[in-house]
Amino acid sequence: MNIFEEVKSQTNLKDVISFYGIEVKHNMFCCPFHNEKHPSASIKHDYFKCFACGVSGDAISFVSKYFGLSSLDACKKLIEDFNLPISLKASSNPIERMRVKEEARKRQIELTKRKRLERERKQAIYILADYHRQLHQLSFNNLEADSQAIIQAEMKRVASILDDLENLKDDNELDNYLDVIKEEIGKKVIEWCN
Ligand SMILES: [Zn+2]
Repeated sequence: MNIFEEVKSQTNLKDVISFYGIEVKHNMFCCPFHNEKHPSASIKHDYFKCFACGVSGDAISFVSKYFGLSSLDACKKLIEDFNLPISLKASSNPIERMRVKEEARKRQIELTKRKRLERERKQAIYILADYHRQLHQLSFNNLEADSQAIIQAEMKRVASILDDLENLKDDNELDNYLDVIKEEIGKKVIEWCN
């Protein structure tokens, strides 16, 4: 891997954009390369594209455009700002080389975990939203007051879980939370949705 590939494999575009103070919500953000109040830029597979002004690229080109740096200097900035275990010169010390490699490996595991969590979060939101929709439809049926109350309470509970899922930022918190959801209501929701 060259330095560009190494930097890209160890960064996450969403984190990079957020790190430099731009709010990213649902993979959308306000494009800093033209003047706008409503987000036109979106992130997909670690690439961004602005649908208003057409600018696009990866984490390195983002930093390069945003700070007016060359691609190499953008890489150096990312290495420094994110404390990436990448040395610009391959070290001749084998222990040092091993340490760098080990750190890169750990970071890769961490990134894979985060991607899995994001995927699971989206899946959970999708299933719960479907469940909520079905409860909502059911609430229009001519049901007894008791059943209506149960449905309303369940809808409220699901809505608050959905809210938490949208807003949990910390990965460990999200990890535990997804486990709780699977344990607690997973089975029930799956029965419902089938
Ligand atoms: Zn733009």
